[in-house]
Amino acid sequence: NGDELLSDEVYLPDTYNNYPLCMQNLLTGLRNDSHLKYQGRQQLSLFLKECGLNVEEALKFWQKAFQQKYGLEEFNKNYKYNFRHSYGLEGSRINFKPWDCSTILNKEPPSSGMYHGCPFRDWNKVKLSGYLSKSKNYYTKEELSKYEVNTILDFKDKNDYMMCCTKYFELTKDTLPHNELITHPNLYYQRSKELDKR
Ligand code: SF4
Repeated sequence: NGDELLSDEVYLPDTYNNYPLCMQNLLTGLRNDSHLKYQGRQQLSLFLKECGLNVEEALKFWQKAFQQKYGLEEFNKNYKYNFRHSYGLEGSRINFKPWDCSTILNKEPPSSGMYHGCPFRDWNKVKLSGYLSKSKNYYTKEELSKYEVNTILDFKDKNDYMMCCTKYFELTKDTLPHNELITHPNLYYQRSKELDKR
């Protein structure tokens, strides 16, 4: 859970559990580096905007997250414009949409020190299976079995990353309505929130 990233002064719409793995990965990178490179900032900030973070909350969140490396003055000078731009408040004033999975998967994979992208594609099998095998099956409350982990890795072998994500959701949360496929990080978030309300 992401609570340790956040102090009382920083509002984030939720804890790690409702975020898809790509966003958990970005939040972990942000916590470890007190910074995210441009692509990572875009992927996470537009996602959080769609989750309901308004521009004031977003600026507060990012400033706090960067503060170990960048003081307020430096943050305002170098980054404030970028985040306000994402909200359509600067430059071309386009109200940018959050990236869907295809957009994310069509971008260059992250190189070292970058956290954007899709971990189902970008993490190697050892790292991914290590993460997956620590996740709990929603029904049994036990860690995912080797068989369950392999069903996800089989989709990775087929380069079907949205199916990896969908299968992961279904194993750790519940089946999705109407055989829905996770095609958007905000869809993952929305469905996970709906299950919270049960
Ligand atoms: Fe994120 Fe989409 Fe990859 Fe799932 S499939 S981790 S939502 S990019």
